[in-house]
Amino acid sequence: MKKIIIIGAGIGGMAAAIRLAKKGLKVEVFESNKHVGGKMSIIEGNGYTFDGGPSLFTEPHLIDELISLSDKKPRDHFNFLKLKESCRYFYKDGTKIIGYSNYDLFSDEVFNKTGVKREKVIDHLKKSKFIYDTTKSIFLEKSLHKISTYLSLNTLLSFLKLPFLNIFKTMDEVNSKRFGNTKIAQLFNRYATYNGSDPFKAPAILNVIPHLEFNKGAYFPFGGMRSIPKLLHELCLSLGVKFHLNSSVEEIILKKKSAIGVRCCNDIFHADIILANTDVFFVYNKLLNKHPNYKNILSQERSTSALIFYWGIKKQFPDLDLHNILFSENYKDEFNDLTNKNIVPKDPTVYINITSKYNKTDAPSSSENWFVMINVPSSHNLDWQEVIVESRNKIINKINDYLKTDIQELIEFEDILDPIKIENQTGSYKGSLYGTASNKKTSAFFRHPNFSSKIKNLYFCGGSVHPGGGIPLALNSAKIVSDLIK
Ligand code: FAD
Repeated sequence: MKKIIIIGAGIGGMAAAIRLAKKGLKVEVFESNKHVGGKMSIIEGNGYTFDGGPSLFTEPHLIDELISLSDKKPRDHFNFLKLKESCRYFYKDGTKIIGYSNYDLFSDEVFNKTGVKREKVIDHLKKSKFIYDTTKSIFLEKSLHKISTYLSLNTLLSFLKLPFLNIFKTMDEVNSKRFGNTKIAQLFNRYATYNGSDPFKAPAILNVIPHLEFNKGAYFPFGGMRSIPKLLHELCLSLGVKFHLNSSVEEIILKKKSAIGVRCCNDIFHADIILANTDVFFVYNKLLNKHPNYKNILSQERSTSALIFYWGIKKQFPDLDLHNILFSENYKDEFNDLTNKNIVPKDPTVYINITSKYNKTDAPSSSENWFVMINVPSSHNLDWQEVIVESRNKIINKINDYLKTDIQELIEFEDILDPIKIENQTGSYKGSLYGTASNKKTSAFFRHPNFSSKIKNLYFCGGSVHPGGGIPLALNSAKIVSDLIK
């Protein structure tokens, strides 16, 4: 029986473990932390529970697929709610737009609040679906780096449609012109941040992302996002996957340009195949002892990171839902700060996620668990202690202004996550949330493949490699890599 070692028990690593164990390989997973899940962490204190990382869940069928693969019935193990509202948007002038998942309700809401015609919104969402249908088989479901991908009829047909996808325009160019309204352009531009990109640079092909939320649906998993890594861990164990927790791999051992094992905890562990679920930058820089490839990765722009305050709030806010956005006044300035000046925006957009709206046990009664996040650059060069103090004040002022409250006196629990902690806790270079950014037309092609062309038997999965960051793509990377491993 062939043996595979997976480095990292992130969502991509565990999804790959399930698929490869099912294929008959002997699978062992090495994980630095005492727990599995990587960025999908959990934070607890004072009666409050928070999902530490991802909060938006789409494409639940990708989890169902893993449950079915493990010979279990999805609904016996994993349940979720389809959200009627994907997000509530708040603007400085007091406008509030509810992002209903129903097309008609949403387009009515947009028309009533901004005067933008209903047809424009519906047309945009239809175009989003068209981009998805055209690109998914090339960019999301297969290796971009194998000639066989380009020889299929589906791929050829998709390539013929590429000229209709506005690949030479930025998201903002398309959205500003299409809606002629800054509020709605800002609302749809925000989808670039779903993979840590900048809508004023990223190609308009990223207008594909609203399709996932509006057409395919946004969901809330019962038990929170943290229930997902817990479930994948259980599925792995049921298939005989062995976990080495608290075990940081220090080196990938090579013999004649072939990966043959790993060094960990003063021991050598041999395997036929090594699959890295860690950030590809650290694989080359650290685990392969500054293999020249790390310079290629270094030259690529990182996706944005985040500064998050986990607040226990001793009050309930009926105006807020699960996902809420308090927009900055000038989105262009915000992204100029983020991706050109590499500083924390002077006026950041504030995202508030409140899982206790749906999972009552996540907060004491009459209280709410607020996950309050702003986008920040992925950077080692900022004084994060100083940034935290300044940003906390800015965020509090914005919340007070937009929601007409005094939030400071309601905070009875606080924890904080910054880019340095993200790097230390999950091995993500510079704390980026989604690996490399998608700010260039060619980004998808330069993202690292799911295999090494220089080192035999070395493979990659997770958010830092093809097809990219975010839970659905990390799960797709596991699917692609398990198809590549024969
Ligand atoms: P990771 O989660 O990156 O885990 C990698 C694992 O490898 C870690 O457990 C780490 O400890 C381990 N490791 C690293 N080095 C070693 C080593 N040397 N030896 C052993 N183990 C090692 N995505 C969404 O879809 N929706 C969202 O709303 C969303 N929001 C996010 C918010 C935040 C704050 C963060 C941090 C991320 C968010 N994401 C979101 C992104 C999403 O979390 C990631 O894309 C996804 O979880 C990445 O999974 P992964 O498989 O790459 O593994």
